[in-house]
Order: sequence, then structure tokens, then C-alpha cells
Amino acid sequence: MQEHEANVQIQAAQKLLKRYYGYEEFREGQKEIIGSILQGRDTIGIMPTGGGKSICYQIPALQSERLTLVISPLISLMKDQVDTLASLGIAATFINSTLHASQVRERLQGAEQGAYKLLYVAPERLESDSFLHFIDTLRPELVAIDEAHCLSQWGHDFRPSYRSIAPLLAGLSHRPVVSAFTATATPEVLQDIVQLLRLRDPHVCVTGFDRENLTFSVIHGQPKRDFVVRYMDSHPHDAGIIYTATRKEADSLYELLKQKGKSVGRYHAGLGDEERNGSQEQFLYDETRVMVATNAFGMGIDKSNIRFVIHYNMPKNLESYYQEAGRAGRDGDPGECLLLFSPQDIQLQKFLIEQTLSSTDRKSTEYKKLQSMADYCHTTQCLRAYILRYFGETAPERCDSCGNCNDSFELRDITVMAQQIFSCVHRVKERYGITLVTAVLRGSKDRRILQLGLDRLPTYGLLRGRPEKEVTGYIQTLIADGYLKVTEGQYPVVQLQQKAVPVLKGQAQVFVKVLPQMKTETPDDALFEQLRMLRREIARAQNVPPYVIFPDSTLRELAAKCPLDRRAMLAVKGVGELKFEKYGLVFLRVFQERAARVGK
Ligand code: ADP
Repeated sequence: MQEHEANVQIQAAQKLLKRYYGYEEFREGQKEIIGSILQGRDTIGIMPTGGGKSICYQIPALQSERLTLVISPLISLMKDQVDTLASLGIAATFINSTLHASQVRERLQGAEQGAYKLLYVAPERLESDSFLHFIDTLRPELVAIDEAHCLSQWGHDFRPSYRSIAPLLAGLSHRPVVSAFTATATPEVLQDIVQLLRLRDPHVCVTGFDRENLTFSVIHGQPKRDFVVRYMDSHPHDAGIIYTATRKEADSLYELLKQKGKSVGRYHAGLGDEERNGSQEQFLYDETRVMVATNAFGMGIDKSNIRFVIHYNMPKNLESYYQEAGRAGRDGDPGECLLLFSPQDIQLQKFLIEQTLSSTDRKSTEYKKLQSMADYCHTTQCLRAYILRYFGETAPERCDSCGNCNDSFELRDITVMAQQIFSCVHRVKERYGITLVTAVLRGSKDRRILQLGLDRLPTYGLLRGRPEKEVTGYIQTLIADGYLKVTEGQYPVVQLQQKAVPVLKGQAQVFVKVLPQMKTETPDDALFEQLRMLRREIARAQNVPPYVIFPDSTLRELAAKCPLDRRAMLAVKGVGELKFEKYGLVFLRVFQERAARVGK
């Protein structure tokens, strides 16, 4: 009997998934979590970023007669979440410190009158007795705690105010079902969640950490700036994030890309609130295509159509890397995660550990994590398998899609060129920078070279006729691969490293991996572009980010299928009934007009 009831509930949940969200199937873990909540059991859902946690509490909320309380630490995300729900036809609201007292009052009144299915609140709100009393009168059946690792000091985002959740639950006269969600799966964090929330015999559902739609690559020995420019040129329509290790690097890369006429924004903690918020907003609303940022950017960014994440420098550990790279492809469409490695990245991270930590224990943990990160950059094995095993999962030997399984690089022997460069660096007595070494090798007639008498060196003009960009590119590659080094300071100079000695003596060869010509993405179909413009107009009019209207994947499927009526449009993934009511006709008109034109 009980089983029968559970089946009926799950079938009802499946109908809601289709009706509101336009999806046919639950993703891994969703059915299990929803089923457990519907049976009245406390439940913990551990899923990777983009795994689809929100639906796990939103669907039970839709099935409940009463309000569901959602506790979330991400104030910046609440408006987005509520807007997304509104676009699906689900009544929800939020209360946080960005609202005036009168707005809060209005929303609380609305909640009292049953106007909402979900109420999002920041944890700080729970510290007030009057709020507790208010919630008690609403008798919620379900409380959902998002980013539940914030409870734990072991997690990376400890929030003391999360500790007021348990007293709130204990103070309610009718204890609701409690569900908690996070992407952090370590045993310490899990134990803290169970104990600190005083959960009762919770059902724990951990889904796999693999994100099949993401591909991973590590790029060695490429001049990074050129690489980024070429990558953007060959992906002219894609949204992406480029993470740099420092604010300074974010600024200079941003300036370079801007100068080249690219659609970029920047974000780091050194900018004023106004500029930061402005550029975040422009990125969310598809007004700028690419965000150059430090790791200060991303927490609470729910943009689902990010197609690539490039790490311009190696981050400090794989936890950070997977979290940041995981911001690509949340909509389930392909996402590319590239890490541009150079040996200096390791030095910088070591320096940061020394600067920011004092306890020797913490330092040694961080050094270990850094070593695993560096090993990821150097492994020749499957990168996906490396990541999954690091997080304690088993993985097949090969994924056939990462940069190592699918190595499309060519190896080129550049020994002679390297010898010429090294000997020039030696001849100028390691006293000059890249530009001057390049000029000497190319036989430049620059006044400074002549004044310094560098035109009399035997290496002068060895690379005559080669483009300047090519020569500096090779020097940078040799730096990235540890044959040369650039000193720090105001006047950086190029110096030889130990690794160059056997090459100069003819005892070792130098190979570089060269990237084959990047394929330019086939320009998006004109129809897809037209749909994107239409989506942008609707989004602007409603003051919500475009992906809230439809994700890219839905637009792509619409462009491919060109549905001509309601039924055909409802069969497209991501078009639920309520979305159809709101936007269906405007989109259908585009396809119908097109069909009429083609038909003529
Ligand atoms: P998380 O909170 O776990 O990072 P979200 O709840 O934001 O992830 O979901 C990520 C994306 O996946 C959203 O665009 C959401 O609409 C989509 N999604 C969730 N469940 C499904 C499903 N069953 N089928 C298709 N897409 C889904």
C-alpha cells in the first residue's frame, strides 16, 4: 500500500517536471531525493554543481499545500532564482537585506495569505525571534537548506549564521521535513550537516561527481595571451569565463582583449561595487560575452549557458579547479574546461601559501593539495579519471574526450631554434628583456641595438626574416617549459635555466606541442541568432537574464525543430506548459513566418 502511494507521488512529481520545467526525465538522484522527501524523511542531497539540486526541493514544494522555506547564503542569487521560478509560473519570493522594511512586510503578508509556494531567506534572518514566530504560524511542511556545507568549519565557506537553523527548527511547534543540499562530499562535512542540523535518520543520496558534458584539457607551452585571443576568435558566439590568479593579470588581460575589440567584462575584489555589479549584470544578461576575473567571481553565478572556462593560471587545488571549471555547461550542453599551465603558476601558489598561512599543519595540507594540482597538469593519463579518483570515485581508464585521451597536438622539434635563442640570451649576458632579445635575433636596426653594439654579436640576425610575434612566441614557450626564466621587477630580463644547458651542448632536443589550427565554430545558424535576439528583447522587457526565459539548449533545439504548433513546441526540452503560455506564441510566430517564406 505504502509502495503504491509512493509510486503515485513520484508519478505526480514527474508530471510537474514536464508541466513546469518542460523536462521528460529526472536526472540521477532527483527521483530518489524527491521520493524520500515526499515520504516525510529528512534528506541530504549531494550533487555536483549543475547537477540539478533546485528541482529536488522545488517539486515537493509544488506538491505541498503549505509554504516551503528555502535557506540560501547567496543573496545575489535569490532574485535570479525567484525570477527563474516566476518565468516557470511558480510563485516564490525572497527576503534579505537588500529589501526595505516595507517590502519585507509586504512579502510576509503575501506569505501569510498563501501567495507563494516558496520563500527564500538568508540565514541571518533566522536569528530573529519574531521571524521564528512568523514561520511557526505558517507551519511549513518542508525546509530546504541550500549550500549546506556552509554549516561546517571543514567546508570552504563556513557561515556562522547557518548555526541558527537548528534552533529555528527546534523552536517550531510542528517540525517540518528537512532537506539539505551541497556539492561538497567529504565525510567531515556530511557528519557536521547531520549533527548540527539534528537531522532524524536522514536519507543520504550522493550522485556521481562526473560531469559528462564537460571536457578537460591542460595546455602547456603556449603563449597564453595569443592562445586566449585565438580561442575567442574561433568561438565567436560562446559565453565564457577566464580566471586569472591575480587582479593585476585580470586587468591586463581585460585591457588587451578590449583593445582587440572583444566583448569582455572584468571582475575582481579590487574594483568598486558599482563596476563589479555592473559587469556581472552585463555578463548575466549576455551583453558581454566573456568575463575575465579572479576567483572572487562565480559564487552565486547561476548563468547556465557558459560554454567555456579557461584558467589562465593553475589554481591552488583541485577542489577550487573543479568548482570553477564546473561553471561551464550547467544547462547540460557541452562545456570546455581549459587550463593554461606554466611553471611560474606553481611558484605563485607557493608564494601565496607562504603569505597567507601561518600554521605549519595548514601549510603542509595546502602544499599537498598543490602538488596534486600540479600532478594533474603534468599527467599523461585521462584527466577526467584523475579528477574523479581525487574525489574518491572510481573511473574508467579513459574518457575518450579529455585533452589527454584525445590528444590532437602535434609534437614539433624546435631544437635548432632553441639553441639560437639560448645562445643569444647568453651573448647579451642575460641583461635584457624579451623584446630586445627578439630584436637582436631578428637583426633589427633599432638605434638602441646599434648604440649598445649588439649588432656585432655572432647571434645578431640569426632569425632574420621571422615575424617578431613568432620569435617572442617561441621565447615565451621556452619560458613556460622552464628552459628560460624572466626575472621580476620593473625591468624584467631573460635568463638561462639549468634545463637549457644540455640543449646548448647538443645533448638534448626540445619539442613543443603545437596546437593544430583551431577550427572556427560553424557560425551559428541565422535562425538560432534570431531566436537569441528575440530572447534578449523579452528578457530586457522583463528585466531578467535571458537564460531565465529559455536556456541555450532549448533555443538550439527550437532552431533545429522549428515547431509550428503548441504540441510540437511543448515536445522541446525546456518548454513547459507555463513557459509556453508566456512566450510560446511569440516564438511560434517566428517559425510560422519562416515556414511561410520557405513554402513560397
Ligand atoms: P545545482 O543547484 O545543482 O548547481 P541547478 O538546480 O541550478 O543545479 O540545475 C542546473 C541546470 O540543470 C538548470 O538549468 C536546470 O534547469 C537543469 N536541470 C535540472 N534538472 C533537470 C532535468 N531533470 N532535466 C534537464 N535539465 C535539468
